[in-house]
Amino acid sequence: MNLAESVRDKGLELGITRLGIIGTEEMAGYGARIDERLLATPRVGALSQLRAFAEPRKTFPWARSIVVVAFDFTHYRVPASADGFFGKHYLFDHRFWPESPEAKKIAALGDYLKEIGLRTAWDEHRGITAYRWAASAAGLGIVRRNNFFYTENGSYNFLSAFLIDAETELKPDRDMEPCPDDCGRCRKACPTGSLSAPYVMDLTSCVSFLTTFSLPFAHDERVRKAIGRRVYGCDACQDCCPFNKNRLGAGTEEFPGLTELEPRLDAEAILEMDYEQIASELGGKFFYLKPDFFWRWKINALNSLEQRGLKPGGKALAALKADPSPLVREAAARHAGEPGAEPGP
Ligand code: SF4
Ligand code: SF4
Repeated sequence: MNLAESVRDKGLELGITRLGIIGTEEMAGYGARIDERLLATPRVGALSQLRAFAEPRKTFPWARSIVVVAFDFTHYRVPASADGFFGKHYLFDHRFWPESPEAKKIAALGDYLKEIGLRTAWDEHRGITAYRWAASAAGLGIVRRNNFFYTENGSYNFLSAFLIDAETELKPDRDMEPCPDDCGRCRKACPTGSLSAPYVMDLTSCVSFLTTFSLPFAHDERVRKAIGRRVYGCDACQDCCPFNKNRLGAGTEEFPGLTELEPRLDAEAILEMDYEQIASELGGKFFYLKPDFFWRWKINALNSLEQRGLKPGGKALAALKADPSPLVREAAARHAGEPGAEPGP
């Protein structure tokens, strides 16, 4: 049995059914793709940072191959309170749920690679290479026009990868149907126009960015409306996709810990929470909103209510008007229709 087969068999023993291995040189095409995207969406300077992922050996000169794995999460139940309000990837993000089966399996695979004498690099938070590209090259699935990676089970999956210092290869033979020529459902479903053409997405106008990293959208009514009820992330370009059909809402298994958090995954509940509660209950699980940006939860939750024609309770509104963040205070005043609240930075 060669190295690749040993790793594959260990993966199967751990319950990892989608595992492939490619040479690091197979990432070369990724840089060209990044360049294309930069040309199409020149405002996205951050994309240039991703170029390093095309050349993992610049950072890890000893690396020779990439072990890449994919996990579905469609077997998990999506909490009713979060469905349509939170991007599903963020709910089942194993990186922040170490007790999840997926996190344990990935850690065990990493331990095994070391046990058999391989040098490895693995960074779940910053990444070590471009996972979607690597997983496609390894034959685990394909990237569709909405830019998401699909296995035969659709796009609701997680990827992870290890660099190893041995030359080996494993490419499962998967024959996946491409997007139909005439399908543009994902582009049409995009509420902000961020997905403007097949494979072309402007990160700065994507709802997932607008509700996390971006400068506040609270002063732009057009953007507020486009974001709609969403509090954290967006699934519109995946939910509409025929290759995700029958996989949405079909999961029944409980994701460890998420059931307990379910009552908090709700815009009204978020407006009732103080910042200590937000830190302890949401802070560690929703990585993109760091402590300095916890006020963002309030802005997002308030907009979610506003877009559904709802009002926060009197106590929550009073707390919002006294919030330490001037942006939250302004959003609350605007929401309450108070004069002088509108023009912002
Ligand atoms: S996640 Fe939402 S906003 Fe972002 S590209 Fe997809 S549909 Fe558009
Ligand atoms: S909605 Fe259509 S075009 Fe978009 S990813 Fe799915 S199949 Fe492809």
